Amino acid sequence: MRFWIQSRNDELSNRLLLEAKDYLLGFGLIFDEDEPDIVLSIGGDGTLLHAFHKYSHRLKKTAFVGIHTGHLGFYADWKPSEIEKLVISIARKEYDVIEYPLLDVTINYQGDRESLHYLALNESSVKSPDVTLVMDVLLNDKHFERFRGDGLCMSTPSGSTAYSKSNGGALVHPSLPSMQLTEMASINNRVFRTVGSPLVLPDHHKCILKPVNGPDFMVTVDHLQLLHEDVKSIEYEVSSERVRFARFRPFPFWKRVRDSFIDNND
Ligand code: NAD
Repeated sequence: MRFWIQSRNDELSNRLLLEAKDYLLGFGLIFDEDEPDIVLSIGGDGTLLHAFHKYSHRLKKTAFVGIHTGHLGFYADWKPSEIEKLVISIARKEYDVIEYPLLDVTINYQGDRESLHYLALNESSVKSPDVTLVMDVLLNDKHFERFRGDGLCMSTPSGSTAYSKSNGGALVHPSLPSMQLTEMASINNRVFRTVGSPLVLPDHHKCILKPVNGPDFMVTVDHLQLLHEDVKSIEYEVSSERVRFARFRPFPFWKRVRDSFIDNND
């Protein structure tokens, strides 16, 4: 089996990287950055997001596991003290693989420029670089509303505990192949109106955002943030691809939610 380790690059994460690498090499596994079967991410959720994007071209072949060296993460849910147990389980292949839905993001441009495609593990958000964002929201090619406000965010189920939650989104169990649109500070009065509630869309639906005022937008895909110029439309769909996590012990989603947001004293 081939493995790779992504570190947040702080002292503790780098020390654990060396420890885990030594153990796994000792068990006869091969350290391979190009074609790993399993990627250990040591740091936080952000470190795992980086690892996901590094290997997003081979999601069917690479599984991920996250160790947190700060507070408990949603993807980084193993403690540093558990590293020995973890590497033994990896070496013996004693783990299950669970899959979570992803978000397909397509950005179409005016003129002849080719569309760009991204995969998001958490979410994609759209903001205007200067003025109020004004976008028409189309659901399955039908006009739904004209949004005016700070921005819009489309999240995956596993991203529902991240940015989407801060926008008032619902927490969605990752077994539901869906995506959720949340508003950021929409302008609502007698003249301008949006639905005002997060929308949870199933995997056969498509959401298209069409610019009304100005063609340049800040678009985020997880931790990546880029200015896109001359945007014609942004399309969101639940991806046919899925991310695979190696699960060594049960750690149910709602327990992770409770431990992260309520308290972790059992
Ligand atoms: P970061 O290091 O600032 O991470 C932000 C926080 O988000 C961290 O505490 C991390 O643990 C948490 N997080 C990431 N994914 C999560 C998930 N699926 N569930 C629960 N918490 C999660 O920034 P980064 O490392 O570059 O991470 C990018 C992510 O930060 C984005 O995908 C977005 O979800 C999140 N974010 C949140 C806000 C907000 O809540 N207002 C704003 C911007 C970005």
